Amino acid sequence: MALTGVEIFKLLPKTNCKKCGHPTCLAFAMKLAQRQASLDACPDVSEDAKKVLGEASAPPVRPITLGTGDKSVKMGEETVLFRHEKKFVNPCAFAVEVKDTMSEADINKICDDVNSSEMDRVGQKLRIDAIFISNASNDASKFEAAAKTVAAKAPSAAIILGTENAQNAEAAVKAVADRKPLLFGANGSNAEAMAGIAKANKIALGVSAKGLEALSALTEKIKGLGVEDMVIDPGAKTAKEIINENTLIRRAAIKKNFKPLGYPVITFAQRDDVMLETLIAVACVAKYSSIVVLSSVEKWKSLALFTVRQNIYTDPQVPMQVEQKIYKIGEPTADSPLMITTNFSLTYFIVSGEIENSKVPCRLAVMDSEGLSVLTAWAAGKFTASKIAQFLKDSGIENEIKHRELIIPGYVAIMSGAIEEKLPGWKVTVGPREANALPAFLKSR
Ligand code: SF4
Repeated sequence: MALTGVEIFKLLPKTNCKKCGHPTCLAFAMKLAQRQASLDACPDVSEDAKKVLGEASAPPVRPITLGTGDKSVKMGEETVLFRHEKKFVNPCAFAVEVKDTMSEADINKICDDVNSSEMDRVGQKLRIDAIFISNASNDASKFEAAAKTVAAKAPSAAIILGTENAQNAEAAVKAVADRKPLLFGANGSNAEAMAGIAKANKIALGVSAKGLEALSALTEKIKGLGVEDMVIDPGAKTAKEIINENTLIRRAAIKKNFKPLGYPVITFAQRDDVMLETLIAVACVAKYSSIVVLSSVEKWKSLALFTVRQNIYTDPQVPMQVEQKIYKIGEPTADSPLMITTNFSLTYFIVSGEIENSKVPCRLAVMDSEGLSVLTAWAAGKFTASKIAQFLKDSGIENEIKHRELIIPGYVAIMSGAIEEKLPGWKVTVGPREANALPAFLKSR
């Protein structure tokens, strides 16, 4: 069971020295109990206390990193059941399956699909993160060859090697060891051999068992064999089973601090019916899977899944924002219109979408309003005439355009005179109130 703040406090030095960044040891203890601080922040904690507290303050879902380099994916570390309690920490990874029975051309095609899957949404880069290589042939050389092909053709994707055959696993892991693959396929009958490979190569091990009791016993056994980093699969197949098992796993880890199930979950969503597969994958994203394995990469599917993942894993208490800058839409010239709005991501995407629809090349100045929409930002004093004037002066836009006309949102027409006062020589034009009127407005000019 997790320790309370007071129990943790009893183990701290109690000198209130503030070196941890908190005013008192008790304040730090409370943060540790809520898992909002790391024990490393206190330099004076004793070794004995570290032993007790280290375990108690560790995140209930063990952190695991999939892959290497700047596109590696961190999983686990979750601390809550529901995102309204606190932000979910590490977004789940999407992996697409490659079978080692496929032709090299087909494997290359999937790698190309993964490489080109990245899309920019609300300022974030979203992509298919990993390739799951299945040892469908049960042949070591074919498995190894597929692993090498994927490693060469998809240099930034994380690699998951799926086999229950320890000999085949050894060959493939060796071939791509520098990519720190996840080895998936440990079960009740091969646990020792698979744990040996994971331990020798310092990689995470995917562990599978039917049902949570068998799975807990297996993770405990593998931990006893010296492997700490695991990803677990309770063998759930239908959407109902997946939601049920994943919820029980997350509850056990978070509410009971039950370590044998405190690992990221991998779920296999592949179906012949791609729509059904997408729906199951959506359920996996919403309900606690850390890796979702898919059968294919399709743009429409990726867009739906990336959107769901982004929505589930953003902080509900912080509005989504885009970067403050002057965005070019189309290929604007020095005579093209200049408009302004705020940096609430929804505002930006709706406004920029409507400008695109108009087919009139424009510049859209997006001002930092801490993620508030136009009217809210104006009411909160974050979208004012003087701030707009300062933003435009600092942006250097006057060197880019020949005219001095700024189109402002209709809802803040009241600011037009004040902006002209702050920006001598500029003319302020009041645009429409609603973004959907922008195409007609721009075309009529
Ligand atoms: Fe207490 Fe350690 Fe923080 Fe100092 S650094 S106030 S001893 S918890």
